[in-house]
Amino acid sequence: MAKIEFKGLTKRFGSLTAVDHLNLTIPDKSFVALLGPSGCGKSTTMNMIAGIEEPSDGQILFDGSDIVRVPIDRRGVGYVFQNYAIFTHMSVYDNLAFGLQVRGLPKAQINAKVQQVAELMRLEDRLDWPSGTLSVNEMQKLAIGRSAIVEPSIFLLDEPLSNLDAAFREFMRTELKHIQRQLEQTMVYVTHDQIEAMSLADHIAVMNRGVLQQYGTPADIYSRPANTFVAMFIGSPSMNLIPCQITTEGETELLDVGSAGRIAITDDALRQAARAAPSRDVILGVRPEVLDLVPRAATGLGLQLEVDLLEPIGPRTVVHLRSGDTEILAVKDKRYGTQELEAVTAIPPQAACRLFDRRDGRVLGGA
Ligand code: ATP
Repeated sequence: MAKIEFKGLTKRFGSLTAVDHLNLTIPDKSFVALLGPSGCGKSTTMNMIAGIEEPSDGQILFDGSDIVRVPIDRRGVGYVFQNYAIFTHMSVYDNLAFGLQVRGLPKAQINAKVQQVAELMRLEDRLDWPSGTLSVNEMQKLAIGRSAIVEPSIFLLDEPLSNLDAAFREFMRTELKHIQRQLEQTMVYVTHDQIEAMSLADHIAVMNRGVLQQYGTPADIYSRPANTFVAMFIGSPSMNLIPCQITTEGETELLDVGSAGRIAITDDALRQAARAAPSRDVILGVRPEVLDLVPRAATGLGLQLEVDLLEPIGPRTVVHLRSGDTEILAVKDKRYGTQELEAVTAIPPQAACRLFDRRDGRVLGGA
């Protein structure tokens, strides 16, 4: 059992606040990613869970008990860093067995566990190899195995895949998920790679400048970003954020996008968001893959744009659209037939749109 709770968790280094009043609950046996750009406080948060850094303020609770004063070795936490921490002069077997020997387990039990974890990590045919002769990929697998073997109730992984080559990283993503399911541990995973976080985690905590921006399932964070920072950070290409002004014509609210035209609001949630907006200056958020594109002549609705550039990426084409200062991306199937310089109308499906306040980027409502 290991539920982790942060209550007002804060870490200051001199005048810099690296983690600012973090409130978060990580459920037992869940896989949670701390995601954000470099310097947003992810590693500092991990170091406080592990006991390497002491909080300046606030609490960290494991299953309801504050552990801030509990020494590192009594927290039941395993930690894997970006740079594999293994004893390169020892064999793979000895590296895996080390933590169990320190705990005084009987030899037969150690043998059985080493075999089990070696199989899980697919290192069973390397057990007698000196660890220093392993490939970079295998060394990181060994580092993960070495921490996992002592069955910590909490497993902290700080960018464990970033030194690995791309193909192996993908393989390890899947493996890590299997390992977490099998070992039934609470895993906290630090990454700046949104794809890694989206594919691995049950829940993602998006951080920026020490402040939690949003905490939710990958699907929620993708479709319902809480602010423009999250909207931009998640997704590739990221959400279109289109500056516009709310205007009214009779009973109808419209979003005025300058030279690209105006969109009459027809969706109830979007209308409510527009009515709640404290200022007329807003940002319309729409994911590139949901944007409908139709030939210009077909309709007077939507945004009038010109195809600026076509960017084929495997099965999809990123369509760069422009009108004056307004730049918008659409993602279409590679068979989508359009030409550069073609005039098109982009229709944002309103049930999938978000409206943000232009002053501070927070969401006003919508999908
Ligand atoms: P990265 O992915 O680059 O490691 P991060 O999100 O993990 O980034 P942290 O390493 O937690 O960020 O750092 C958060 C902020 O705290 C940064 O501005 C960093 O320079 C600062 N910081 C971290 N550790 C210390 C320290 N021991 N002394 C002073 N400042 C620190």
